[in-house]
Amino acid sequence: MTPSIRILPPELQSQIAAGEVLERPASAVKELVENSLDAGATSIDVEIDRGGQERILVQDNGQGIAEQDLPLALTRHATSKIVSLDDLQRISSFGFRGEALASIASVSRTLITTIVPGADQGIQMEAVHGRLGEIRPAAIARGTRIEVKDLFANVPVRLKFLKTTATEAKRCQEAMAHMALAHLDVSFSLTHNGREVFRFMAGESLEHRLQRLWPPHLVQGLVPIRCERNTMRISGLVGTPPQAQGRGDRIIMYVNDRPVKDKLLLRALRQGYKGTLLSKEYPQAVLFLHLPSQEVDVNVHPAKTEVRFLDERRVFSLVQGAVRQSLDTFLAQTDIPSPLRPQATVSERNVGMDMPGKQESPQTGSSKNTPAPWQDTTHQSKFASLREAERLYTAGDNMPPRADDPDRLLPLKEENSGDHASDETPSPAVPVAHAEIDQHATDFTYHGQFHRTYLMVSKGDTLLLMDQHAAHERVLYHAFSTAGKHGEHQRLAIPLEMSLHPSEFEVLENIWTDLLQLGFTLERPQPATLIIRAIPTTLETGKAMSYLRAVLAQQTRDMDSLWTTLACKSAIKAGQVLTRDEALSLVQAWSQCPDNRYCPHGRPVILTWTARELEKLFKRKP
Ligand code: ADP
Ligand code: MG
Repeated sequence: MTPSIRILPPELQSQIAAGEVLERPASAVKELVENSLDAGATSIDVEIDRGGQERILVQDNGQGIAEQDLPLALTRHATSKIVSLDDLQRISSFGFRGEALASIASVSRTLITTIVPGADQGIQMEAVHGRLGEIRPAAIARGTRIEVKDLFANVPVRLKFLKTTATEAKRCQEAMAHMALAHLDVSFSLTHNGREVFRFMAGESLEHRLQRLWPPHLVQGLVPIRCERNTMRISGLVGTPPQAQGRGDRIIMYVNDRPVKDKLLLRALRQGYKGTLLSKEYPQAVLFLHLPSQEVDVNVHPAKTEVRFLDERRVFSLVQGAVRQSLDTFLAQTDIPSPLRPQATVSERNVGMDMPGKQESPQTGSSKNTPAPWQDTTHQSKFASLREAERLYTAGDNMPPRADDPDRLLPLKEENSGDHASDETPSPAVPVAHAEIDQHATDFTYHGQFHRTYLMVSKGDTLLLMDQHAAHERVLYHAFSTAGKHGEHQRLAIPLEMSLHPSEFEVLENIWTDLLQLGFTLERPQPATLIIRAIPTTLETGKAMSYLRAVLAQQTRDMDSLWTTLACKSAIKAGQVLTRDEALSLVQAWSQCPDNRYCPHGRPVILTWTARELEKLFKRKP
């Protein structure tokens, strides 16, 4: 006899569905913590016993659950977060499927205690393997407390798939840490078997939190990445090629602050390192991709760690390009030899790379033998370019730095209210009106150069440490983008010749006119040969080829990235001694740039401490 079709009882439905959302204790931890975040909690404490299998307790200070909603919270497909399919298009909460709590409750003994603001007292409800108990009054000061005991006790198959307690505990720890890294304004703690595993305070930096998860030397070596294109933004930290390791678990990616495992993002990240990693090496990365919720589908899988992008190519190119740019900057500032650096081919050397600008000093040895900073014959031209960049948009004639008076305070224009918090979304470059400069003059004092790299400057009661390369990059970038077409060029005494790879043909055609606008004079007698007759004045001769190689290798070929790369290649480097005049003119030019807390690649330009902060650091005052 054919069995008749029956609808399964709700508990059984939940138990079956639970398999998709809840693979292991860590999945329960993730779902519960996400609910706390969705409830606006600023403090989330988690306790687990025996890898989470015996007990998971999540306590938050969020908005709580109202009495009439409590049974619904434990019912499948009941959610407070969306009401229609349309909402799903612009989902900003972590949850929306309304099945996590019901799933957890169907495979455990779950006790929820909660209170909404203004209520006289809290309430409590227990669910045992999906059967809901009565609502009772209970004592709780704030938020919600959810205790999950004996997870999977009624689903023996699932229990069999669990690993050792230590492994499951580690997974819980990882799940929580990943959420903690994306919510720096929320405090988190995790306790396992009564011992605190970690505690993060609200307001810590990403680096600070990472330092308790990864070895400190790795964290110190991370490079910031930050790039914004149209509606998409990528930010975060990436490890440098020399830091690469044989383990791939230090790559954490987020899409709209949701931890994801995404192949496309991984490929893009890897592509950013192209040529610098062995196939068995992995970089470290914590990447946050932000994009409008309509452009990404997070509802691909019940666990919501998979996503689908509307425009995969744009996402790929943003991530790859941003990673590449950050690494380029890093490599430009260090002497670590790396395949990322464009290598001159034999034919390039034959034409005399590096030669024209340095005819007075006969070239001995290979072109890799760069002179020490104090011998750098191009030093002057660098500063010619810095001054030129300043002249492009500042009054130029006022306030000459005075080297004769070491303590003279140099009047400078006040930067945008000094509001450092507003650097989240950089505004488009706005030229500074000349007349403004003299008027709201504020004072910078220059104290010297440290490590031939950092300028020590103070303004009012704030001490600044400025990265000279990054600051100069910002100045040049601003000058380029303000001037629009930076057509000034220097003719080369001996033209450079560069051979092109077929893969570069099309790229070159696309950026040809842009390059001419930047100040290059180029010829292409044969498809695979490029002759460079003139280069932008800001660039030193040796860098022209490396600049072209870099832009030909880039995925993104808009003017913005051409400027960013040009700024990077043109800027003074770390390790270069600056005179007082030079340092002051750099500080002055920098102070008038918009978005000047970061270089165009997104690296910080300055670190600051107020006198008050120093007092605290030195424990002079509590
Ligand atoms: P979803 O998060 O997809 O909406 P869940 O099953 O995870 O579904 O949660 C169901 C509902 O229970 C949520 O929509 C929310 O209203 C409520 N809820 C769950 N956890 C909390 C919490 N910690 N604080 C406040 N409300 C909560
Ligand atoms: Mg949820």
